[in-house]
Amino acid sequence: MIYLDHAATTPLRPAVAAVMEAAGREGFANPSSQHAAGRRARQILEDARERILAAIGCRTTGPDRYRLVFTSGATEANRLAVVGMGRAARGAVAVSARDHESLRAAAASLATRPGWNLSTLPLDSRGRLDPAAVSAWLADTSAAGHQILCTTLVCGQTGSRESPLLVGPATEPRCLVHSDATQAVAFTSIDVPRLGVATLALAPHKFGGPRGIGGLVVRRDVDLEPLHPGPQETGMRGGTESVALAAGFATAIELACAERVEVSRHLAGLRDRFEAGMVAAAERRGITASVLGGAGDRSPHLSTIGFAGRDRQAIVMAADLAGLCCATGTACASGSSEPAPALAAMGLPEPMARGAVRFSFGSATAAAEIDRAIALLEGLL
Ligand code: PLP
Repeated sequence: MIYLDHAATTPLRPAVAAVMEAAGREGFANPSSQHAAGRRARQILEDARERILAAIGCRTTGPDRYRLVFTSGATEANRLAVVGMGRAARGAVAVSARDHESLRAAAASLATRPGWNLSTLPLDSRGRLDPAAVSAWLADTSAAGHQILCTTLVCGQTGSRESPLLVGPATEPRCLVHSDATQAVAFTSIDVPRLGVATLALAPHKFGGPRGIGGLVVRRDVDLEPLHPGPQETGMRGGTESVALAAGFATAIELACAERVEVSRHLAGLRDRFEAGMVAAAERRGITASVLGGAGDRSPHLSTIGFAGRDRQAIVMAADLAGLCCATGTACASGSSEPAPALAAMGLPEPMARGAVRFSFGSATAAAEIDRAIALLEGLL
């Protein structure tokens, strides 16, 4: 089997599995228990929290400190950020088609509250937010009280990177920016204070860590309303924390950050080889193919190729039968008959968007697999 769907999830790293096994044994107790076993579990949990924050440039003390709320994944982190920040009586929230379904759904849900409205900002042809559209939105809704701008650091459909500084210091106090960094961590250096965001969502299963845990980074001055109230997570999320998953999360993010430069270089080479080979293979079959959102700065782990006039579901199913795992887009939206929202918003011709297949690579992907994937796909186009 050739696995080219790392943007959906990645295999658990053996080193992370070993850490989780040890942390689960040593920190088996309830981290809220006051006895020695509970205190040991708490220590492992808090150590993991600090390590995760440190990996993305966050201090936990001082005036520019951040906290991390453990969640079940990025879906919940996105919702906690957007719905949780919408405490004001009135406000405006903005999303775009480059945001994950979970983020768009959270914004839509906030906008059902009286006094709140939702805007969907346009994308440019590279799949990025247009800074002029952001400025217009900021100005347009300035009377509406609270503003929440949802952004996605690396788009899960095209891999395009968002410019981090969409909101300048003049508008920052009024506008809270949430950034979904789920696809970004392993291949984009993240320094949260420099991004200037209020909140940032993470999920370790996208970079060799466990599923079932995620996190929301929250700036010191940001007031959140919990989705699931309870005494844990400083009142931000009820429910006993998983010490083993938190320890695995911390180890996975540290390993991903340590290997980022080297793995990114490796994957950029493989991705370029794949894209050039795939476009040439399609041409040999008389099909026009192009890399969608390919121009500009993008993450090296992901490539969406449009095969004009072909049906993407048919390609993905035929590839699966032949032993190649790839996707039409985000796993949450798989099965949808509509083209991916990000591709539609980029203004791509419909036959290209309908024939779009997403291939995504991981640190263990080998050049030989890329060549086999191209040959296999050429045979079934
Ligand atoms: N945000 C982005 C950009 C994603 O790619 C995904 C997963 O596909 C999510 C959020 C949801 O993450 P999780 O599966 O951890 O809930």
